[in-house]
Amino acid sequence: STKGYVEIDTHAIKLSKYTPQVVLTRVLSDKDNVYNGINHKSIAKKEVLELAGDDIEFHFAALDYSNPKYNRFSFRLLGLDGQWSDATFEHHATYSNLAPGEYTFQVKGTNSDNIWSDNIAQIKVVIAMPYWYYIVACLLLITLLLIIQFILIRRRQVTLLNQQLHHDTLTNLPNRLDFQNKMAKLASTQEHNFALIILDLDRLKDVNDLYGHKMGDEYIKSAALRMQESLRDFDYLARLSGDEFIILLNRYKLEDDLLEMVNRITVNLARPYQFDDITVSGSASLGIAMFPKDGATEEELFIHADSAMYEAKKAGRNQAYFFNASLKKKLVETIKIKANLKHALSNQEFKLYYQAKLNAITGKIDGYEALIRWFHPVEGLIPPNDFITEAENNGAIVEIGKWVMEEACAQAAILHAEGLLKGNVSVNVSPKQLLTTNIVSIVTDALINSGLPPEKLELEITESSLMDESDRTQTLLSKLKKTGVSIALDDFGTGYSSLSYLTKYPISTLKIDRSIIVSASQHNTSLLVLRNIYSLAHSLGIQVVSEGVETQEQANLVLQYQDDLVQGYLYSRPIPFEDARQLSLKDAAELQI
Ligand code: C2E
Ligand code: CA
Ligand code: CA
Repeated sequence: STKGYVEIDTHAIKLSKYTPQVVLTRVLSDKDNVYNGINHKSIAKKEVLELAGDDIEFHFAALDYSNPKYNRFSFRLLGLDGQWSDATFEHHATYSNLAPGEYTFQVKGTNSDNIWSDNIAQIKVVIAMPYWYYIVACLLLITLLLIIQFILIRRRQVTLLNQQLHHDTLTNLPNRLDFQNKMAKLASTQEHNFALIILDLDRLKDVNDLYGHKMGDEYIKSAALRMQESLRDFDYLARLSGDEFIILLNRYKLEDDLLEMVNRITVNLARPYQFDDITVSGSASLGIAMFPKDGATEEELFIHADSAMYEAKKAGRNQAYFFNASLKKKLVETIKIKANLKHALSNQEFKLYYQAKLNAITGKIDGYEALIRWFHPVEGLIPPNDFITEAENNGAIVEIGKWVMEEACAQAAILHAEGLLKGNVSVNVSPKQLLTTNIVSIVTDALINSGLPPEKLELEITESSLMDESDRTQTLLSKLKKTGVSIALDDFGTGYSSLSYLTKYPISTLKIDRSIIVSASQHNTSLLVLRNIYSLAHSLGIQVVSEGVETQEQANLVLQYQDDLVQGYLYSRPIPFEDARQLSLKDAAELQI
């Protein structure tokens, strides 16, 4: 050098022993200065810094002016991590997204010769909950409360719906669905014996018709209450439909036990029902099937109890019938009929027979009643009483009835063309057919296709067709009447025998049921009834046909009515068409002699 030769003994250079103090120079929260350590001034003016930012930066420096760039630092954030960081020349540390809480930032450093100082600089910081935390927490809480409320409401709704789904609204008793579940359980566990009772309230329709549906509802409710009172806690009662109830009598010990229960129910239900000033004399018909004796499955039991109930109803109401072997046989027949009925029409198994309607005095044939016959290839002749009801139930009556109308018109047209039909041919029309099909067009079509004059056709309807007394029935009958056919009221004396129908509807013939004729021949009072019916009908211009005359004695009862007709085995049974034609031919020949 210009100063001469300078020799430096590098081995003699001593390490610096000076350990500079480390100080925190600044703390930034999201780039905002929150602490300034150089002038020892916390902007927050607090010993503990409360911070809310996402990024926290700690800046620090060593108070070493000899060679600051060789100072190294190590730091840690207590509360997050206890470990000191590796030594670094950086003089700041950054932390992001610190969870709310208390922390202590510590930093220590070396001098430029890498000697660590004992001094540790530190600052406590508190990371506060951010404001949105409280909002979110509140929102969460509100949401939670809403969810809870929603769940509670839903649960209440579901319970209510479930209750409604399984209960009848009028009586609050379990309904059909509930019963089905119950039965499925009972029959599958097969634990103990029980009796299934199908109970049908008698006369509900009468009560409805006479006093209105409100009274009908009261009758149902009172009856349901009486049933409940007759049962034990572990028995089961449900309402299946309008007047139909079901009872499951559990764990009866002996049949006597069961009998007593059934008796109690029947007697209880047959007591008069008092509603204000109206007394209703109600009762019920019961059909009973026992598990497992009368059926192993729910379906079998139900069908068997139902058929027993049906028998009880037929036997005159207010009765309880147990399912038995003869009912079983009958049921088998019904099932057979059900299965075969489907194909009977297409297989041409039906035929019409004709029973003459005669003038009782002259004995001359006036007309015929067409009566259906079913000739089954295997079962043989099945009488109408055995299948008409089934056909009505399954709807087959629609097609069958149409066929009867066409066939009867076609055959009547033959008789008419030959001059053998003085009066008319009458065709039975079931209530179902009358009310659910377009009977007017069926009749007019049959008349047009056969060429039969309308006055040669009579429709026989029963009282049950007229019972709803609606305008609809009135219009329907008027329309039929307008086609030119006549209308007969059949089976008079078996149902309500309401003479008011005769005045209300366009009826031209009254057919008196066999039962009236039979009892008139035995009792004077019944004879009086018969005479009154005749005289009332005559006063309304209605012709009378006495049905089911079997004996001369019965025939004598009506001999005085010269303009009326008789029908019965005494004169002629229902016979095939060709035989009827021959009979008419013979009748006409006799007339000519
Ligand atoms: P209904 O209309 O009262 O027919 C009279 C029934 O009495 C016929 O029974 C007939 O054979 C029977 N009968 C006639 N004279 C006497 C007699 O002197 N003594 C007795 N004991 N019975 C007599 P059938 O043919 O068995 O018909 C029974 C019922 O079936 C009919 O009663 C009618 O309601 C119904 N029916 C018959 N054919 C048809 C049809 O084509 N359509 C519809 N919907 N029902 C029909
Ligand atoms: Ca008839
Ligand atoms: Ca009849």
